Amino acid sequence: MSGVFQKIEQYGHEQIVFAQDKDSGLKAIIGIHSTVLGPALGGCRMWNYSDEGEALRDVLRLSRGMTYKAAVAGLDLGGGKAVIIGDSRTHKTPALLKAFGRFVESLGGRYITAEDVGMKVADIDTIRTQTHWAFGGSNDGGSGDPSNMTALGTFQGIKSALKYLGMGDDLNGIRVAIQGVGNVGYHLCSYLSAAGAKLLVTDIYPTQIEKVVHEFGATQVTPDEIYGLDCDIFAPCALGAILNSRTIPQLKCKIVAGAANNQLETEADGYALFKRGIVYAPDYAINGGGVINVAAELDGYNQQKVLAKVTNIGNTIADILERSRQENVPPHVAADHLAEQRIAAGRTPQQAKPAKSSCCSH
Ligand code: NAD
Repeated sequence: MSGVFQKIEQYGHEQIVFAQDKDSGLKAIIGIHSTVLGPALGGCRMWNYSDEGEALRDVLRLSRGMTYKAAVAGLDLGGGKAVIIGDSRTHKTPALLKAFGRFVESLGGRYITAEDVGMKVADIDTIRTQTHWAFGGSNDGGSGDPSNMTALGTFQGIKSALKYLGMGDDLNGIRVAIQGVGNVGYHLCSYLSAAGAKLLVTDIYPTQIEKVVHEFGATQVTPDEIYGLDCDIFAPCALGAILNSRTIPQLKCKIVAGAANNQLETEADGYALFKRGIVYAPDYAINGGGVINVAAELDGYNQQKVLAKVTNIGNTIADILERSRQENVPPHVAADHLAEQRIAAGRTPQQAKPAKSSCCSH
């Protein structure tokens, strides 16, 4: 893996940690992008990467994204992420998770881990037996599954985008196309349905679809049909890179606002949406409810405070869309500006603010 320093310089990272434990087979990379605003928080992804270069690229990209996500959410946190190389269905063992936990602990709170793809709440509980710095578990003050809060923030962001277009914030009769009705998509359907929206849904798993059709009267469409639907809002809640040169020309919606990470395949796709007059609520700004929920553990989890911060995502989206209008730049660029301003304001000679030690079960 040559050129590692070139890559981390390009992405602007502070520290990359390569961790291996022979006994358990752990191979992990922890990326600490920034601790300017506080400890670097971000989930741990377990994935069967085709090679080490792919794993490194993923951790660099994801950890930088967390810096921006925390900054626009107004959290005193930096950005980090970890990847474990391996198939979570076959290679994940308690010994491997514990070895990972020991590496996280060795960083003394500079990096705080949590769930991501391939990691469940129960896995965080196992990691937590070895470190103070694993959040989102089910015990020991853990905040649990964050997807409901991610959905609530997305719902608030959707209302702000509607308001921005002069459509009020009443969702009654508004047609929303939701791609992916897993953890977040399901909860989003619930909020939208309660507000009177008409739901058009797709997923690749029939059981997920059946649940929302049955519970919320949603209309099922195929995965290919979702892009070209006659609807007001398209809410991507499955995969990244789904806004691209193949899908953007098909869109008939006025707004794209959903929880999926990294929705724009390229920077140019954000400009393409802007040119088409489709309002895009930047992914990392609208889907910050989960990180807000997890981060709340730092001060002792308080649901009322979390709800207030997650509800404020609506104001953040309104602010970003207004900046986009005033600066005449696409919303994803306006969001980057907002994040970069906050990070620049937080830069001090000492930089890293140490996390306050919380509880630990070991
Ligand atoms: P999930 O795995 O529970 O749900 C994703 C759903 O998308 C699944 O039901 C899956 O079958 C479906 N799907 C996959 N490919 C599809 C396709 N081509 N077409 C239609 N459906 C497809 O994941 P989740 O936790 O609900 O997260 C959804 C998205 O939101 C992800 O991009 C995730 O990174 C992002 N996100 C989640 C959280 C959170 O709190 N869980 C926080 C921030 C961002």
